[in-house]
Amino acid sequence: MRPPEDLGTTRRPTVGDDRGMDDHTMPDDLADRPRAQEHGVPVPFACQEESGAFDVRTVVKRRVVRCALSRVCGLCGISLAWPVAFLGSPDEADANAFHFPPLHEGCAEVARGLYALVGEGVLGITGPPEAWVLVTTGGFELERPAGRTGDQRVVFHPNSVAERRTSDAG
Ligand SMILES: [Zn+2]
Repeated sequence: MRPPEDLGTTRRPTVGDDRGMDDHTMPDDLADRPRAQEHGVPVPFACQEESGAFDVRTVVKRRVVRCALSRVCGLCGISLAWPVAFLGSPDEADANAFHFPPLHEGCAEVARGLYALVGEGVLGITGPPEAWVLVTTGGFELERPAGRTGDQRVVFHPNSVAERRTSDAG
């Protein structure tokens, strides 16, 4: 028989606190970002309002455009160098239409493990991530919404994919 006081000492499983969260493999600029409560992931630069407010499932359009025009990484917010990486779902990669701004390759690599834990709607994708596709490219086109109705997301079209890597989400 267990004494009743043991009930409170049951170990609770820890969730997502060590998978992909190794700060040693994370680029320093990404590790320096504020952390979201959800899984302790770094708040992507493209998901933060100028006021500092953020939601890791919401892409802030103004920031997305700024990333594209100023050539800064959508995750860490620091200047990009070519080639840049895009990270998205297999559907986005097949359509050559991504909804999250360009990234450092190093940021994109660790993001595949990190943000899969957050699930649905993360990094501008619709639905839960089944797999992540990382592409690298020497350039891209930016497509803004055509009108005030319909899909209001900004779309990125890599103009020549140098490399494409697919990995399972989770
Ligand atoms: Zn970065």
